[in-house]
Amino acid sequence: MDAGLKRELEAKVYAGERLTREDGIALYSSDDLTWLGRLAHHRRTEMNGDRVMFNVNRHLNLTNVCSASCAYCSFQRKPGEKDAYTMRIDEAVRKAKEMEDEQLTELHIVNGLHPTLPWRYYPKVLRELKAALPNVKLKAFTATEVQWFEKISGLGADEILDELMDAGLESLTGGGAEIFDWEIRQHIVDHACHWEDWSRIHRLAHSKGMKTPSTMLYGHIEEPRHRVDHVLRLRELQDETGGFLVFIPLRYQHDFVDSADGKIRNRIQARTTMASPAESLKTFAVSRLLFDNVPHVKCFWVMHGLSVAQLSLNFGVDDLDGSVVEYKITHDADSYGTPNTMHRDDLLHLIWDAGFRPVERNTRYEVVREYDAAPTLAERRAEPQQVWA
Ligand code: SF4
Repeated sequence: MDAGLKRELEAKVYAGERLTREDGIALYSSDDLTWLGRLAHHRRTEMNGDRVMFNVNRHLNLTNVCSASCAYCSFQRKPGEKDAYTMRIDEAVRKAKEMEDEQLTELHIVNGLHPTLPWRYYPKVLRELKAALPNVKLKAFTATEVQWFEKISGLGADEILDELMDAGLESLTGGGAEIFDWEIRQHIVDHACHWEDWSRIHRLAHSKGMKTPSTMLYGHIEEPRHRVDHVLRLRELQDETGGFLVFIPLRYQHDFVDSADGKIRNRIQARTTMASPAESLKTFAVSRLLFDNVPHVKCFWVMHGLSVAQLSLNFGVDDLDGSVVEYKITHDADSYGTPNTMHRDDLLHLIWDAGFRPVERNTRYEVVREYDAAPTLAERRAEPQQVWA
């Protein structure tokens, strides 16, 4: 990137001006990571100071049986496959109860599009989870699942959301977004929920007072211009509804050979690489700069490893998800040694070691507890340093 354009972009960021599609593409063309990080960190600090938010949650996948076969997905199984599973409601409740001692504040529930489970199962499972864990917020179902519920129930999303909210739903999850541009989407997504339905369902949820997350799956066959397009669609919807709390860039993962059946399920693996840490940091930074009206940018550390998660805090990220004791959808595709369990104390130290102030939040990003600011580097040098994988 030439020096003139760099100065122009810098001036826009420091003046708080909205960046354009062309600006976003230009930022992605820069390999000056330090510069990108500085700009994103400026924006992040203006919005969120030295805070890093986290919550104590648990991921629960009720079933891995799915009618769709998205090209990148290593989670889904077909009915009858050896490790296909579907939880009975009491089983889901028992698993959730196991976490009670850790003072979790949120259950994050996403599932395959099960071909025969009836619609009634879903509000029922929410009701029973809520009865068993009344203080835990239920963040459940992607827009794709809600559209699936429309298909299996014959109801509209309006009635479906009302019933799920009545059963205890606090928030939808942000999944199913992947990359909205059809040029890419048609090659990776195998269900019927695309931008029109995804945005319709989140818009509807926002109109009912619900706040939701938004996501993007990057690092597969898309190009930077598709990431920019994706974020600009979300930014426009956010201008309209103000209902997104956070944007989460999700790093596409390669599959590993399944020891149970020797299969690799990811069908685009042979022609893709995974985004490098530098590419991920760039994606966080450009996302923070472009998506100027979303309050938070999150790093889902399970997909990145802890060192990159720490670095991401200097590249626009102000939220680390979460205390994950069981997470299947990504972890089926990870043989790289990233832990899948972190607890409150681990997260606190991870954040302090990166030089930030931890703040525990709930699903709505309300503060549950503020912690002390990070010790200075000089103070930390006096202590043995922890190495984060
Ligand atoms: S990404 Fe979701 S909808 Fe697609 S195959 Fe996997 S579980 Fe099914």
